[in-house]
Amino acid sequence: MTVTETTDLESLANRAAVDLEDASAHEILAWTHEAFGPAWCVTSSMEDAVVAHLASTVAPGVDVVFLDTGYHFPETIGTRDAVAAVYDVNVITVHPELTVVQQDAKYGARLHERDTDACCAMRKVAPLESALTNYRAWATGLRRDDSPARANTPVVSWDARRRKVKVAPIARWTQDDVDAYVLEHGVLTNPLLSDGYASIGCEPCTRRVAPGEDARAGRWAGSGKTECGIHQ
Ligand code: SF4
Repeated sequence: MTVTETTDLESLANRAAVDLEDASAHEILAWTHEAFGPAWCVTSSMEDAVVAHLASTVAPGVDVVFLDTGYHFPETIGTRDAVAAVYDVNVITVHPELTVVQQDAKYGARLHERDTDACCAMRKVAPLESALTNYRAWATGLRRDDSPARANTPVVSWDARRRKVKVAPIARWTQDDVDAYVLEHGVLTNPLLSDGYASIGCEPCTRRVAPGEDARAGRWAGSGKTECGIHQ
């Protein structure tokens, strides 16, 4: 079905969560494209281009939103540029209201060392809210095996805070599934994945992980923080 202005998106999302639980990532994205047409996007951290690649096969030219926090590794910016050049997607780079220099002047340098929640709220959560204004649905690369906090991620859900449908086409995938897809399709990945990083965010808040460590153990390590706020 195609959604209209009067479609009850919350009910639609709740039904789709059940109906699509066993569907393939392609089928989930095809449903998203049929339902939302141009009013959906992919968000990508540019850790890899798996979801962007999948989405490009069902919706050529689809918008891929990338949040440039100003703190990314050069390799992440390079991956974004490669994705924009190679795949049939429309990469949209979104910036926070303040540059890092402006934020330092207003809140003091290295806010991420003193208040990660405030820094993430300004540099990630707020810009995403703003970027999603024009869409009614968004797709992410969240996976249940990312972390215990993501173990119950639905393939489709109602994002009540933003009043949008949230789609996680690879929620059921394991790391082995991701690796196999990357290998089969030669999908672009962030070079840092081959340099000891298992989950890639802003440079000051990301470290390499030791063998056997949880993939997200290198994010905000030692702070107790596990999510930036986008997916909460
Ligand atoms: S991950 Fe770190 S540097 Fe990036 S926005 Fe959050 S606190 Fe700031």
